[in-house]
Amino acid sequence: MYHIMMRLFLKKGREESLRRFHPWVFSGAVARHEGQAAEGDVVEVYTHDGVFLATGHYQEGSITVRVLSFRPCAIDAAFWEAALRQARALREATIPAAGTTAYRLVHGEGDNLPGLVIDVYGNTAVLQAHTIGMFRARHAVAGALRKIYGTQLAAIYDKSATTLVSKDNEAVPDSYLYRAGETGRVILENGYRFAVDWEKGQKTGFFLDQRDNRRLLSQYAQGRSALNLFCYTGGFSVYALGGGAARVHAVDSSQRAIDLVNENISLNFTRAAPHEAFTADAFDFLHNSANHAYDLMVLDPPAFAKHKGALRNALQAYKRLNVAAFSRIALGGIVFTFSCSQVVNKIDFRHAVFSAAAISGRPVRILHQLTQPADHPINIYHPEGEYLKGLVLQVE
Ligand code: SAH
Repeated sequence: MYHIMMRLFLKKGREESLRRFHPWVFSGAVARHEGQAAEGDVVEVYTHDGVFLATGHYQEGSITVRVLSFRPCAIDAAFWEAALRQARALREATIPAAGTTAYRLVHGEGDNLPGLVIDVYGNTAVLQAHTIGMFRARHAVAGALRKIYGTQLAAIYDKSATTLVSKDNEAVPDSYLYRAGETGRVILENGYRFAVDWEKGQKTGFFLDQRDNRRLLSQYAQGRSALNLFCYTGGFSVYALGGGAARVHAVDSSQRAIDLVNENISLNFTRAAPHEAFTADAFDFLHNSANHAYDLMVLDPPAFAKHKGALRNALQAYKRLNVAAFSRIALGGIVFTFSCSQVVNKIDFRHAVFSAAAISGRPVRILHQLTQPADHPINIYHPEGEYLKGLVLQVE
């Protein structure tokens, strides 16, 4: 038997979304509770008349429970091991065995583990908790990782300090939960080499979600003059050069990012590679780029909207960025344009790009519609999980 701190009983009729496996319980749906729970405790959720619905992590705020299981069960070592084994099996089935050593092992709701992200970089796993419950479970999660990976894992790094939101935040500085040997900084992605800095880099250190889209870009690169805006560690630059681009310019406002881009270019190409990286604001760079005739552009900005209230301004910013790109790209040019804002849905984004095309007054065709790769799965009952949207366009 296991101990449950609190049982929550929903208002009549409010069980429908849980019956459809939506993984969140909103506080407004709760009628009453029995027992007391602290943030991060495991609690159980019942219908108004006492039928079990789900087990999950409790948190104060509008999402009060994030579901870990739709069956009564203990959230113990066996639970974590089973959940991570299932996550790993999916990655083994979808990530090519050769040429790629970095992947997302756990993608929150997409892996039925709301609040948890784990990225694997070679022999290091980087864990990011977005809820107190997952943060409190980090040692149990690390134990399960070690059991599953054995000696294939040399380190487990917790990078939750910036992702936890709670009023009595018990967050501690980022640190190694486990460290047994030398960790390799350089990962492989589709055969290309990238240095990953999980300790100081953005998010967990590398944007794994663009893996498939970068590969598609390399197919369009031959002989083209490319501009990689918001380049971060230069993923798209490396693939553009690999695909035979005649010249690549990369732009990021962060000097650290530009240093990483230059390192990653030299990890893959000789000094003669036609690549140049600029520390600059992407909008300014585009406005001042009248002399360069780019015919391949990548627009991969940070999430312009971090919450619903910012949606309108974000859509304006996407529009502005795309207008600038369409107005400057050479005849027949290709634009890879993205949004990674969770609150901007596919239709909103497409509309913003449509408006931008109309303002630029140029004919634009959609060649591909892009999203996140299979190691960032989307729970069909949690469509909010589809955060990465992209369009590949040809501008006449
Ligand atoms: N394309 C990248 C990921 C981009 S993340 C990849 O494939 O890995 C977004 C990047 O935009 C960050 O590196 C951030 O430093 C940069 N950035 C944010 N605002 C910017 C601005 N106004 N101009 C240029 N870069 C910006």
